[in-house]
Amino acid sequence: MRRIDLHTHSLASDGSLSAEELVMLAHRIGVDFMALTDHDTVAGVPAAQAMGRKIGVKVIAGVELSTEYNQGELHVLGYNPDINNLALNECLEKLLNYRHQRNPLIIERLRQLGIPVTLAQVAREAGGKVIGRPHFARVLVKMGVAASVAEAFEKFLAVGRPAYVKKDKVSPEEGVKLIREAGGIPVIAHPGHLPVIGSAELTALISRLIPFGLLGIEAYYPEHSWTNVRRFVRLAAEFGLLVTGGSDFHGISKPQNRLGQVLPDGGPVPEGVRASLEEWINLV
Ligand code: AMP
Ligand code: FE
Ligand code: FE
Ligand code: ZN
Repeated sequence: MRRIDLHTHSLASDGSLSAEELVMLAHRIGVDFMALTDHDTVAGVPAAQAMGRKIGVKVIAGVELSTEYNQGELHVLGYNPDINNLALNECLEKLLNYRHQRNPLIIERLRQLGIPVTLAQVAREAGGKVIGRPHFARVLVKMGVAASVAEAFEKFLAVGRPAYVKKDKVSPEEGVKLIREAGGIPVIAHPGHLPVIGSAELTALISRLIPFGLLGIEAYYPEHSWTNVRRFVRLAAEFGLLVTGGSDFHGISKPQNRLGQVLPDGGPVPEGVRASLEEWINLV
């Protein structure tokens, strides 16, 4: 069966497979249409697309921007932007700098807790340019201070936990506009993960972002309940937005998310999503 997966991560951010390995895995399990959506970087896109052309997987260029929302984060997915767009790359560079400022502060917090982590250890774990909390979590597991990545977040790294350090971000408006102006399709990622998710808030958020170029909502997502999936599909229809879906595959950093398994029961993205995304790509 052919499958679609529009939300995946590689070693370029906090996934555990290289961009090439990710596309090869997709091919093996029957995913023939996918997007690489690393956090705050497009560095893996050329390698993923080259491998995709070689083995027959259509790889859409993508990115997942972390933006500021209600003291938490709103992730904005961007599909098919020009990855060489100057403004987009300047923004990604800025976000990388924010991370570079944050990482030593997380190290310091952990050291204060008596955990002697070094930045070099975490950088080695990350492999790519983007260093994130999942890499800290993996190092903590290796050091034996947490039993799993999930426990490392619960004990140390999650919001409100002792080693949590906020990173500066761009605004959702800025993120949406940037992707749109780079010729991409901006989509609200996994709205079910937003810190405040009442219907009124979500409607307000969508209305706020449409003037800046918002075009879609990621309704199909393994961590959404069926109730939420249906609610987000309905909201998209009300606003005339595209519906997308993806697994948020990270490899070992998030072992419960399996490539190509996107619905709450592990099912695939409905087939129509592929045609509508292709249609929108031709329109913008
Ligand atoms: P960062 O961008 O460095 O703040 O890290 C955010 C990433 O950490 C998210 O995109 C997830 O991949 C991961 N993450 C956040 N919270 C958790 C959690 N409770 N358990 C596992 N992974 C998490
Ligand atoms: Fe992640
Ligand atoms: Fe995300
Ligand atoms: Zn993601």
